[in-house]
Amino acid sequence: MSSQPLNILSVDVEDWYQAVSLLAGLPASERLHVAFRRGLHRLLDLLDCQGVKGTFFVLGMTAERDVSLVGDLASAGHEIATHGYGHRHLWQIPMEEFREDLRRGLGILRERTDSPILGHRAPQFSVPRDRTLEFFRVLVEEGLTYDSSVYPFGGRRYGLADRPREIHRVETPAGPILEVPLSVRTVLGRPLPVSGGGVWRLLPAFLIADCIRRLNRKDLPMVTYVHNYEFDPEPLRCEEGGIPRGIRSRRINFLQNLRRGSAYGKLRAMLEQFRFVPIREYLTAKGLL
Ligand SMILES: [Zn+2]
Repeated sequence: MSSQPLNILSVDVEDWYQAVSLLAGLPASERLHVAFRRGLHRLLDLLDCQGVKGTFFVLGMTAERDVSLVGDLASAGHEIATHGYGHRHLWQIPMEEFREDLRRGLGILRERTDSPILGHRAPQFSVPRDRTLEFFRVLVEEGLTYDSSVYPFGGRRYGLADRPREIHRVETPAGPILEVPLSVRTVLGRPLPVSGGGVWRLLPAFLIADCIRRLNRKDLPMVTYVHNYEFDPEPLRCEEGGIPRGIRSRRINFLQNLRRGSAYGKLRAMLEQFRFVPIREYLTAKGLL
């Protein structure tokens, strides 16, 4: 087991319905939706059964409303990292607003755990293509050691196809920071995202396993990401978050629920076949921290 290549498990912890309310132009609700805890507990039970720890990128807005969340995750042995505060896409806001949002999110996490917060993931991997260096500089200035937001493929909304695929150091005027990019696989000469989300829901388990083996043969980790709400057995309904019933709500519900029931079994299959660790443990094992 110990000679197996290391892969990375990360979880973006948020209440899907909070994000939906913001999309609808409404304030995020004060109470977390029942789907938030149902999905999280099912995921945590799975990790506990498999004896696997992960890095949990916790959204500040969510941690604020569930005061025991960060402490519970940390005492279960998981790494706590930041997902910012308000799930604001960085391509839509000035860098100073990003800094404020990040500080607010970090402040809540630091109140709830004594472990240092080393890592950051941007909402929807929204690293601004025209301000990449400024983005990294803000992270360094706010005391972070690594980031895991770069998806090195040419996506329509997110993705930075020209960035390296391996873990690398980024030099900024404020100092260096490590980048832990999400994983891609080259198909017909083009990098395609294979780290999680809808791609994991759609790909059969044997193809995900094949992606992991190919990465590991190149001495690269699979950097997996999942969301807690993907493990809730009930369908997601964005109307409950305030999006009016219509074409948009049907589209969102369709995409979010497509093959969602397969997420649990696929993650379990990957945890059984491969070795996954938190980012901090991976970086330490590779002598990068
Ligand atoms: Zn998120």
